[in-house]
Amino acid sequence: MFPFGHAGPAIAAARRAGADPRLAALFALGPDLVDKPLSVLIPALASGNTRGVAHTALAAVVLGGALVAARRRPRGAAFLWGCWAAHLLLDRMWLGRGPDIFFWPLRGALPPMEREGFIESHLDFWYLGGEAAGLLFVGIFLWRERLFDRVRLAALLRTGRAP
Ligand SMILES: [Zn+2]
Repeated sequence: MFPFGHAGPAIAAARRAGADPRLAALFALGPDLVDKPLSVLIPALASGNTRGVAHTALAAVVLGGALVAARRRPRGAAFLWGCWAAHLLLDRMWLGRGPDIFFWPLRGALPPMEREGFIESHLDFWYLGGEAAGLLFVGIFLWRERLFDRVRLAALLRTGRAP
């Protein structure tokens, strides 16, 4: 997981894009919110890999099509799709077995989890720096929107907009 690194920039940019920051966070975390539970519930589907079908180009295309076809399209739909796509960029899907996942099913079955170097890869500058930057983005968003006020925060969580 890379929660603040994914959600932080999306939340901070949502206002400028005219999108709901709650949905921006949801879309930015979307591939992990789909694939990580699937890897636990149905490990054979993705060979136990926590990056699976939701981390593919196919999923991004299907999601984009669904957003275009939706009768009740959310505000900033293109931005929300961009949050999903940015997740794949921030996951650096071009590294290791990432291309095999990203281009699934064109390159065969989803590869198994890469166990070797897993911990080291999550303690590198990209991962930890991304989390710190994401936390900073969330903090700036909370401060700019004056969400340390419980009433404003509750309104944002309920409606997607601070009063
Ligand atoms: Zn991911």
